[in-house]
Amino acid sequence: MNNETMVQYFEWYLANDGLWWKRCAAKAENMAALGITRVWLPPAYKGTSQEDVGYGVYDMYDLGEFDQKGTIRTKYGTKDEYIEAIKAFHDQGIKVLADIVLNHRMGGDEVEEVTAVPENPQNRNEQIGEERLIKVHSRFTFPGRAGKYSAFTWDHNQFTGTDWDENNPEPGHLYRFAGKQWKTDVDPENGNYDYLMGMDVDYGNSAAVRETKKWLRWYIKTAGIDGFRLDAVKHISAVFYRDLLDYLRKQTGMELPAVGEYWSNDIGRLLNYLDSVKNEMSLFDVALHYNFFSASQAGAAYDLRTILDHTLMKERPQNAVTFVDNHDTQHGQSLQSFVEDWFKDHCYAIIMLRQEGLPCVFYSDYYGNPVKDRPPVLNLGKMMKLRHFYAYGEQEDYFESQNLIGWVRRGDVEHSGSGLAAVLSNGDESGSLRMFMDEKFAGSVFSDVLGNCAETVTVDKDGWADFRCEPKRVSIWVTQEAFENLVVNE
Ligand code: CA
Repeated sequence: MNNETMVQYFEWYLANDGLWWKRCAAKAENMAALGITRVWLPPAYKGTSQEDVGYGVYDMYDLGEFDQKGTIRTKYGTKDEYIEAIKAFHDQGIKVLADIVLNHRMGGDEVEEVTAVPENPQNRNEQIGEERLIKVHSRFTFPGRAGKYSAFTWDHNQFTGTDWDENNPEPGHLYRFAGKQWKTDVDPENGNYDYLMGMDVDYGNSAAVRETKKWLRWYIKTAGIDGFRLDAVKHISAVFYRDLLDYLRKQTGMELPAVGEYWSNDIGRLLNYLDSVKNEMSLFDVALHYNFFSASQAGAAYDLRTILDHTLMKERPQNAVTFVDNHDTQHGQSLQSFVEDWFKDHCYAIIMLRQEGLPCVFYSDYYGNPVKDRPPVLNLGKMMKLRHFYAYGEQEDYFESQNLIGWVRRGDVEHSGSGLAAVLSNGDESGSLRMFMDEKFAGSVFSDVLGNCAETVTVDKDGWADFRCEPKRVSIWVTQEAFENLVVNE
């Protein structure tokens, strides 16, 4: 068994040139060579405009095929190009996870007058005015598609509420449609966090549920996707998602791996959600991301021994998809919390070279980001290959001081040259950790594959060695076979 690695193959600031799916297809082989086994692609359906990143969902049956919202293609290309990109990943043995945005719809085709109750946006359990008629863009008829694939049209009956009244067009409001209730099995922030944006879909409405199931069956079959990245799950009924995944797996006979975005650094809420959905999905380890972010800002004041505390990686590793940054944490984005450059190697060592969790590499960390002037994480390609070829076997931690931690992987017989020793420093002095590799490594010479330490280390006859690390750096000590493959012959 080889380690799995996922990649988020997009970021927020891509050019709106319609060439993205083609670029994905061209890079599939390269990703496979780095050990990537799953790719998360951006939302592929038509949003409110051509430049929409994909989360302003208009028509989920329009994968860049119909002349709607002033464009046939999406920001990323056409339906045919999307399907070609998926095939290119499949040809390399890479599974494709589609980004599924079910919480809301935007850009309705027609206006309806709906009776609604104004609520306090900061406490959604508090009504702050009398019932009234509001004017909302709640009818979705998709005239450009003219009923192809599905004749279903949406109206206010399939939505619970919205934040915009054309009769009173100003921001900062929240309206719940009369006779509707927010779902209670959602995140408790703001009293009830069912509402996020746009027209909030009511998954208590049987027609909405039926149409969503139908769309997903169509989408899986049409595009050939293998699984899902589920957007904004904290704003959607947990029971609805649990039942939906169960239904789709039974209907298709497919495994359909799913990872949810539950944006909270409260480990209690993440675990509670996983319990509510009966572990039918994994979650991104947002708690770990925030530990990374805090550590990167605090420098030597951060106690590295606590970096895994209160995270899914530690508390429920089998359901943890670990990551360092994503399209929302980038500079200028809604959840901006971008890990400082000096600490990126540390974070990627933790998610790539340990046994807990499925790591997700971020596109902009691998390639850098010219728009936000971020450099690539130069060691990331090496760490991806390390994970793929050499990060195997028993793991033991040496979390020994505030500013210096390490662990070993003792290798296995299946992976020639496998086994490594990782040492991470956030302090101002160099140091070393005495760690036990195993008697089987006695006399073996280890080198730092990241090149921060130039000298080699020889494991003693009892299987121990002192593994060094320079201030605020990372050293990954590997066998001569690994070093030759990853450094000498590169
Ligand atoms: Ca919702």
